[in-house]
Amino acid sequence: MTKIEIPLDHPRRGSLETREKIIEGHETHVVATAGLLAHGRGEAFDYLIGENTTELAEQASRAAVAAMLSAKHPVISVNGNICSLVPNELVELSEICGAPLEINLFYYRKEREDAIKNALFAAGAKEVLGTHDRPSATIPELSSNRRKVDPDGIGAGDVILVPLEDGDRTEALKALGKFVVTIDLNPMSRTAVYSDITIVDNVIRALPLMVEQAREMKDLPKDDLRLIVEDFDNTNNLATSVHIIMNHLEASIYDIDKMRQKFYAGENKQ
Ligand code: ATP
Ligand code: MG
Repeated sequence: MTKIEIPLDHPRRGSLETREKIIEGHETHVVATAGLLAHGRGEAFDYLIGENTTELAEQASRAAVAAMLSAKHPVISVNGNICSLVPNELVELSEICGAPLEINLFYYRKEREDAIKNALFAAGAKEVLGTHDRPSATIPELSSNRRKVDPDGIGAGDVILVPLEDGDRTEALKALGKFVVTIDLNPMSRTAVYSDITIVDNVIRALPLMVEQAREMKDLPKDDLRLIVEDFDNTNNLATSVHIIMNHLEASIYDIDKMRQKFYAGENKQ
């Protein structure tokens, strides 16, 4: 097992700890090799956003939870990355919202499916859909392995949470008339743009927040929940997310200058 000691005062400590989780997930076959690269793309956007949950992401998360709580048949789609990062929160959110967990893999291998299923059961899941021993229906719009959906899960679902999804599949889910909720650090990805609600945040922060919000909101009347969803505007959410990145980049111009001055003022010398 890869285990490195990360100094307590390391400026990227949280990010490096998350990276360790993904590496461990890869070693236990939960995460695909391509999943490591997808994570790296996410890290880069997290850096640009400031590695914090913005108020905007918090609002999007509230709308996402409202959509799941007011759905007839909400479903949570699970892949290797999300399972390695936040298995306990996936199970908790699934229970609070009554949304079954369905395994859905871009790079299918039975070994990976089993590793994910076992990780979800170890985190307390009572049922996992989308496994090879379950019935399957197909999404005609897709040609890959991922055409398969569980008829009792995504097949019958109305609101689908797809954290870290690929654009092709998001497009196919939309073509099937599903209400799609996603978590994606890149506000410009196809998934982010095609979804009905996009939480522009790291799943490592977003899932615990969703669990907390779901606990607070679960007894709200359905009509109130629907109003929260109706009030949400994803075009505005994504545009503002890009502005947040732009402002952050603008501010970093001054930070670079300050950092260089401090470094060359001699603080780096023994
Ligand atoms: P799309 O297919 O939607 O256009 P893409 O091809 O750029 O997106 P993919 O590799 O298909 O990207 O999916 C990975 C997506 O997940 C990226 O947009 C990346 O920013 C995002 N991502 C990766 N890790 C995280 C994370 N921990 N939290 C949130 N988002 C993440
Ligand atoms: Mg993609």
